[in-house]
Amino acid sequence: MQLPASLLDSLAGLPGYDRSLFEAAHATTEPITSIRINPAKKVPLSFSLEKVPWTSVGFYVSPRPSFTFDPSFHGGAYYVQEASSMLLEQVFLQAGLKNQPIRALDLCAAPGGKSTHLHSLLAPGSLLVANEVIRARSGLLRDNIIKWAAENVVVTQNDPTHFERLPAYFDWITLDAPCSGSGLFRKDHASVAAWTPGQVNHCALRQQRIIHSAWKALKPGGILFYATCSFSPDENEAITEWLIKEYGAIFQSVQLDASSGIIESKNGYRCWPHLVKGEGFFFSCLRKPAAAATSNQSIRVAKSKPINISAHYPSLLQWVDLEGMDVMEIGNELTAFPKALQSDWLMIQQTLHPIYVGTLLGRWMHNKLIPAHALALSTRLSLEVAQLPLDYQQSIAYLQRKKINMAFTVKGWVVANYQGLSLGWLNVLSGRANNYYPKGLRILKEHL
Ligand code: SAM
Repeated sequence: MQLPASLLDSLAGLPGYDRSLFEAAHATTEPITSIRINPAKKVPLSFSLEKVPWTSVGFYVSPRPSFTFDPSFHGGAYYVQEASSMLLEQVFLQAGLKNQPIRALDLCAAPGGKSTHLHSLLAPGSLLVANEVIRARSGLLRDNIIKWAAENVVVTQNDPTHFERLPAYFDWITLDAPCSGSGLFRKDHASVAAWTPGQVNHCALRQQRIIHSAWKALKPGGILFYATCSFSPDENEAITEWLIKEYGAIFQSVQLDASSGIIESKNGYRCWPHLVKGEGFFFSCLRKPAAAATSNQSIRVAKSKPINISAHYPSLLQWVDLEGMDVMEIGNELTAFPKALQSDWLMIQQTLHPIYVGTLLGRWMHNKLIPAHALALSTRLSLEVAQLPLDYQQSIAYLQRKKINMAFTVKGWVVANYQGLSLGWLNVLSGRANNYYPKGLRILKEHL
């Protein structure tokens, strides 16, 4: 792989950079694959795992299995994520926010790697707003949040500037910025030819604009986790330096094991591919000064009006454990969301464009309540719901939305289950079952 000379030149002098080792690391053909397990869904996995040192939930997997044909992947038992990105965990744990309920925002969240990771780290009672400005990508973010069984999350599709309507609202903001992407050249050879220094400039200006909005939405004393998968200093150290100068941001150092190979740079940390078992990554932890108070007192929130579920929909109680949850009727859909976060939900509805909230329980169709896929995948699914254990072949057929060949002994709504993991709904009528796995999620490929 021929790396752009102007990129290589721009890296000269950075801590940890060694041109020949850097180029050699890009010549390797050995792909590094890693996954992050979902603590809410502990099930046995069929491949061997080697721990990623800087996280309690990340593992390298070698050789790369076929995730498409692993039912556990579709059931949300794990997320396939590049190992360097999992450094978010160290920053979060060291920021002093892990033991208290907080409001967190992931501003550039699709497809949801950092959102699902952050979700696993948040203290009970926390709120996560996972935002993706690009509509086509926001649906994938929603699907991954659903798979993760994340019930305290609102998925929004907003431009970063819209978050200025929530001044000083969030305790933590993840800003995994859109960038020139050079850190992923090893995984995406085609992007090397598309890289230009002009693109780096364009990204840097966009990063500043996004930070400008994020900073307003951050509480005084709150933490901004800034990250890119670019090697270019203009998108990394220059941005954090600008943030410190312009906004008085305070750089927070992060303690990392020297054996990890992660190098401290100016106002941030670098993962070089010749030093770290992971892809190129830059991250920084920045605190907003406590004195820079921008109040959110002026935002008035209407009182919440959740519906009385036992009076309106007693049958729903057989499907779902609603302890601590409110049920809301949104159009023809019923959704559960933590009671304690109702005022946040009202605030978000008034200021942003939410596309998904909490756990979708079901939808009314022709006077019948059809249970939602999100409910089947959630940890709120009632133990009273019948589970139908499927073997591997049957699970793949189910995920392909095909007919399942078996004799059914149960009737009505049942949950397809692979090795203890819920995959989705089936409606068993006399002797046959209708497959309710969502069309848009089905496996399109044939199994070899
Ligand atoms: N955090 C994600 C994860 O871990 O899965 C990856 C985020 S990716 C590096 C950057 C995201 O920013 C993309 O989803 C992209 O669609 C979004 N994006 C692109 N242009 C943007 C803009 N102008 N403002 C905010 N986000 C933007």
